[in-house]
Amino acid sequence: MSRGGGGRGLTVRVRGARRKDPSSVRWLSRQLNDPYVRKAQAAGYRSRAAFKLIELDDRFRLLRKGARVLDLGAAPGGWTQVAVERAGPGVVAVDILPMEPVPGATVLRGDLTDPAVADAAVAALGGKADIVLSDMAPNTTGHAATDHLRIMALAEIAMDVALQVLAPGGAFVCKVFQGGSERDMLAALKQRFASVRHAKPPASRKESAETYVVAQGFR
Ligand code: SAM
Repeated sequence: MSRGGGGRGLTVRVRGARRKDPSSVRWLSRQLNDPYVRKAQAAGYRSRAAFKLIELDDRFRLLRKGARVLDLGAAPGGWTQVAVERAGPGVVAVDILPMEPVPGATVLRGDLTDPAVADAAVAALGGKADIVLSDMAPNTTGHAATDHLRIMALAEIAMDVALQVLAPGGAFVCKVFQGGSERDMLAALKQRFASVRHAKPPASRKESAETYVVAQGFR
């Protein structure tokens, strides 16, 4: 990489960009110029996504001390780190990919489309959850409609898990993509939660269709 000019706030350019695949140049350039990436590195978070949960929690007051938290699609672990910092030990994190341990959390590896994996997560929690978080996302294909359907399929799995494992009064936070099919999910959530809202935290990139559903007051 190289820095264009001197001084602050200037764009970092990717060195050798002409020889690289344009999509990887775009990704690298975005990473190098993203203030949240730098903030995450400085704070010791494994992902810039950590700030999305911090911003959601600052707004909705989700992570009470002592809460039992289930973090679905947790790797590389930024949300898990924030959940342990704010709620304390008692966090169970699950991902299909391997994830480095986080002190204070139980990390399980498994595919959440398999109901046995959700059962194992519930067993590891040792009781009902106060909060279910899902930042699950599939690898994107670049085809918007396909990506939307795939992410919503994961969101519905997360919702099913939340409805099974939440204690009364519990909360559910889930990544969804705007684009139509999230409406059915919202209708289902409204039947079971006192409040259901959409929130796009500032750390979520404006150009991304990603947003979060925050459901509170499980009944
Ligand atoms: N919240 C995380 C953080 O702060 O580091 C980032 C999560 S990342 C955006 C989405 C995760 O969902 C990926 O690690 C991916 O492996 C996981 N995922 C996707 N499909 C899954 C599945 N079927 N079961 C479990 N995890 C899955």
